[in-house]
Amino acid sequence: MSHTTKKTPAMARPMRPESLMMSHGYDPQRSEGAIKCPIFQTSTFVFESAEAGKAFFELAYGLREPGPGESPGLIYSRINNPDLEILEDRLKLWDQAEACAVFASGMAAIAATLLAYARPGDVIVHSEPLYGGSEHLIENILPRFGIGSIPFPAGRPTSEVRGAIEAVLKGRRVAAVLIETPANPTNGLVNIGEMAGVAHGWGAHGDRPVVIVDNTFLGPVWQHPLEHGADIVLYSATKFIGGHSDLIAGAALGSTEAMRPIRELRTFLGTMPGPWTSWLLMRSLETLKMRMTASSKNAAYVAKFLADHPKIERVYYLGHMNERDPMIGAYRAQCLSPGSVISFEVQGGQPAAFRFLNALELVQLAVSLGGTESLAEHPSSMTHADVPVADQARMGIEPGMVRLSVGIEHYEDILADLGRALEAV
Ligand SMILES: *Cc1c(COP(=O)(O)O)cnc(C)c1O
Repeated sequence: MSHTTKKTPAMARPMRPESLMMSHGYDPQRSEGAIKCPIFQTSTFVFESAEAGKAFFELAYGLREPGPGESPGLIYSRINNPDLEILEDRLKLWDQAEACAVFASGMAAIAATLLAYARPGDVIVHSEPLYGGSEHLIENILPRFGIGSIPFPAGRPTSEVRGAIEAVLKGRRVAAVLIETPANPTNGLVNIGEMAGVAHGWGAHGDRPVVIVDNTFLGPVWQHPLEHGADIVLYSATKFIGGHSDLIAGAALGSTEAMRPIRELRTFLGTMPGPWTSWLLMRSLETLKMRMTASSKNAAYVAKFLADHPKIERVYYLGHMNERDPMIGAYRAQCLSPGSVISFEVQGGQPAAFRFLNALELVQLAVSLGGTESLAEHPSSMTHADVPVADQARMGIEPGMVRLSVGIEHYEDILADLGRALEAV
C-alpha cells in the first residue's frame, strides 16, 4: 500500500518472516517517526479531493482495475484501516499468500469463506471431527440455505475416504472441501496434497471445489497448506497467532483470485476486526515463531511424561506417530513440528478426568488453546458436548479424554503440576 509501504532494501536472499514482523509494511516517517505502528482509532478517512475519493471507491467496489502502481486508498474502517492492512501484509509472509483478510473471529473467517463459495443445492465435503463451531454452522445453519454436507474421517487413507464420499455424492456439486488437520481433539491427519488432488477431480475446470484448510492447530509456523495444493488457509487467530488469550480474531489467506469473494463478503457482512485488535495481533506476530517453538519443545517433554505414566491409557501426540500409521506419510509431507496440543486418556473415565482437571494448579482449566499459558479441558463434556455420544465414540473422543494446550512455562513446572494432579485421580 502506497500510504505505508517502506522500500525493502536489496538483499542477497529474502528475509524470513520472523525477521520482518517488526517492520514490514510500515513506514515510521508517515507517523512522526513512531517505531511502532500507531493505533488508527478512526472510523473514516478524509479525502484530499473529491476526485481522490471517487478513485478510491472505484477500486474498493471493483468498478475498474487499478492503474500501474495504484493501490486502494483509505476510505472507511469497515473497508480498510492501516492497522488491518499492515497486519494482513505481515500475515501473508508466513504462508507466502498473495492475499489475506483478517476477521473479527475464526468463525467469521470460516463462515465468510463457506458462504463465498456455496450455493443452494451444493454440498460441502469436510473432515471430522471438526471444530465445534464449524460443525454447528455446517450441520445446523447452512442447511437452511439448501447447502448439504458429507463428512469423512480424519486419520484414514485418502483412497478409502474418496470411495466413501463418491458413493454418497449422487451427482451433487461439491462447493468446497473443508479440511481440519490435525483434527481436534484426536490429532488425526488428513493428507492435504492427496485430498486436493481428489477435489480437483470433482467438477469441470473452473468449477472445481475450493480446497480449504483450517490450519489453526499447527499455525502458520508449522504447516503451510497453500504449498500442498489448498486454495484457502484459515485460522482462528484467537489461538497461536494472537497467542496471549486476550483477543478473538480470524484470518483467511490465498491467491488474490480465490480471496476476492471472501473479501467482498467481509466488507458487506461487516466482520472485520477493529484497529485495537489488529494492533494487538501485530504485537503478537513479533513473537509468533519463538512462542510456537517454545511451546512445541515443552510439549515433547509433556508427551513423553504422559506416555510413561501408569495412570494414562493413551496419548494422542503427533511426535509419537507409529511408523505403521496410515497417515505417517502425510505427517512427513506437511507437518514441520508435532505442535503443542496433546490429548490423552486418563484411566477411570470421566470421574477420573474431572478429578485430574480439578487438581491442576499451574495449568488452567479452560477451553481455547495456543496461548502462553497451559490450558486443559474435557472435550466430551466441553468443546465437543454438541457431538452425540455415539458419534464421539466413533471419532475417538473417550469419556476419560483430556485435551492439553502446552504453554511456554518452564517444562519442569508443567510436569510437576501434571504429576501432582494425577496423584488425585
Ligand atoms: C477456536 C477455533 C475456531 C474458531 O475460532 P474463534 O476465533 O473462536 O471464532 C475454528 N477452528 C479451530 C480449529 C479452532 O480451534
